[in-house]
Amino acid sequence: MDYTKKIARQVASVPRSGIRDFFELVQGREGVISLGVGEPDFVTPWHIREAAIYSLEQGHTSYTSNLGLPALRKSIARYVDDLFHVKYEALSEVLVTVGVSEAIDIALRALLDPGDEVIYHEPCYVSYSPSIVMAYGKAVAVETRKSDGFSLKPEALAAAITPKSRVLMLNFPTNPTGATASREDLEGIAKLCIEHDLMVLSDEIYCELRYDLNEEHVSIASLPGMRERTILLHGFSKAFAMTGFRLGYACAPEPVIEAMMKIHQYSMLCAPIMSQMAAIEALENGAPAVEKMRDSYHQRRDLLVKRLNEMGLECHSPGGAFYVFPDIRKTGLSSKEFAMKLLEEEGVAAVPGTAFGNSGEGFLRCCYATSMEELRLAMDKMEAFVGRL
Ligand code: PLP
Repeated sequence: MDYTKKIARQVASVPRSGIRDFFELVQGREGVISLGVGEPDFVTPWHIREAAIYSLEQGHTSYTSNLGLPALRKSIARYVDDLFHVKYEALSEVLVTVGVSEAIDIALRALLDPGDEVIYHEPCYVSYSPSIVMAYGKAVAVETRKSDGFSLKPEALAAAITPKSRVLMLNFPTNPTGATASREDLEGIAKLCIEHDLMVLSDEIYCELRYDLNEEHVSIASLPGMRERTILLHGFSKAFAMTGFRLGYACAPEPVIEAMMKIHQYSMLCAPIMSQMAAIEALENGAPAVEKMRDSYHQRRDLLVKRLNEMGLECHSPGGAFYVFPDIRKTGLSSKEFAMKLLEEEGVAAVPGTAFGNSGEGFLRCCYATSMEELRLAMDKMEAFVGRL
């Protein structure tokens, strides 16, 4: 059968993830040090796993409310208020989702009519552009620059706005660059969103993982006039090392949550109950474990930034997440060539910057959620590789 005629055009138009392509090459190779997968190397803290086990022991194996367990939504509303200084009504303005991934998908589907434009800053997380396209929107990338620490500048956003612009997607701290946004820039961005009546999808999944603690994390939802036009997305995968639990959430005004719920209730029904039980424990008692993991990532970030700059690959010190994004342009190799050669010659896997959009050309994403010992070894190998170029 000719399946090209069976697959929806919208889906067929979306390319495979560059990360997936690259990791298919890595699979099956012995002894590779991976700076690739954007996932904590920590196992979920024991007390959180215990809460999941206990919930199973108690026989909690049913569906929950479509929106999520009320107790979890109450914990989320408290946590979000503490972290972002924005108040949400626990029972009507919080939706528990299957990871932030689901929240991104249903938020876009809830907001977009065919042809609506969605602006996002690039390099960015691999799912953004495909999710926009699969929701029948038009993806509009705004390039961010190394000289701006890869943060989105209001002037760059202003130049991308058209009468068809409907949504702005933000992600600070950013995957893959670790970029953060200043209050001043966010205020400029907020002003434009209000002026042009844009909704904002703010993916703040890395917000606990910030290392320059004199720098505040400002959620755009907390700025005047923005709560009503923002969908704040957050989850458990990164800070709590809970990727496999598949749990996230969206906070937004009730009509928006209602629209997202229409999709969620028919496609997911609800997030897994044992994950939701564990998440309550994470929010209520997980802070010390998060702090310990953050301290560890902080040391690793400093090591990588130092070593990369010493070997001549310019690398800004990112404020958050667990990625560094060194500039490899001096080597004369493209991102893909650099990553392939590094893998073949030294057995170190890092992701070409182009996996995160065309503006990632000339850069490499190295994830430092791996042990200090492996990071030191990876840096020694990379230094030897760069030295030979
Ligand atoms: N958003 C960003 C920026 C990410 O980097 C990731 C995962 O890497 C996700 C969302 C997906 O997170 P989740 O595991 O909650 O689906």
